[in-house]
Amino acid sequence: MVRFERVSKRYGALTVLDQLDLDVASGEKVAIIGPSGSGKTTVLRVLMALERIDDGVIHIDGEPLTHMPQGDGLVPADARHLRKMRSHIGMVFQHFNLFPHMSAVQNCMEAPMSVLGLGKEEAHTRAAELLTMVGLADKLDHHPAQLSGGQQQRVAIARALAMRPRVMLFDEVTSALDPELCGEVLNVIRELGSAHQLTMLMVTHQMGFAREFADRVCFFDAGRIAEQGSPEELFGNPQHERTQQFLRAVM
Ligand code: ATP
Repeated sequence: MVRFERVSKRYGALTVLDQLDLDVASGEKVAIIGPSGSGKTTVLRVLMALERIDDGVIHIDGEPLTHMPQGDGLVPADARHLRKMRSHIGMVFQHFNLFPHMSAVQNCMEAPMSVLGLGKEEAHTRAAELLTMVGLADKLDHHPAQLSGGQQQRVAIARALAMRPRVMLFDEVTSALDPELCGEVLNVIRELGSAHQLTMLMVTHQMGFAREFADRVCFFDAGRIAEQGSPEELFGNPQHERTQQFLRAVM
């Protein structure tokens, strides 16, 4: 479903992704862990085409992200191709990034109407269903400022799902929340994972959740996957010294 082939990303002299290879199968749940600055967020940002890559290729569902077919070959993607590819992906950020002047339901209707061309009624029905699914049926008309952090994050998840993405990306979605609000957000993600065959990539500092949620855990170090495996393998029997050091420090 998602394939990175020798992907590099640099900021000036700093190499943030270093010839990264990563394959995520359809329906797979992958947790990305690792030290600060190891490139975890950058993986999600280049996949969402929020950042350009310097080398390598990214495919989503077999289609190249940064290039598009023309004649017999490939040419660099134009804005339209990037918009189309981005619409396959839903991203939820650490800071919820909701539109503050819109209610919860309006937040979830905006992109389906403007990008997918849904009518108002259909967009409303879809938004209300998703907000109900994340436990916010009674908050449809609340504005972000009237919602707790955990509720805002659940609106952000519903908003991303409203685009019916093929892949969902979660970037430290509980880092800005008080511990007692993390649980409600993680529960929603857990339910999504078990009820829907969604492909998910999650950057997280919560090892307990990574262990429970993920099919596979990737430990990043210096822009590469230093070690990966099932949660049992990676947490129970890490092979690399860097992984062992990291886990000792955070667990
Ligand atoms: P953290 O756990 O602290 O969020 P991370 O593993 O997610 O870290 P990234 O956010 O991917 O790390 O950043 C990797 C490196 O790239 C960091 O050293 C960061 O300072 C640098 N970086 C990220 N964005 C930019 C940018 N726009 N310009 C320059 N450097 C950047």
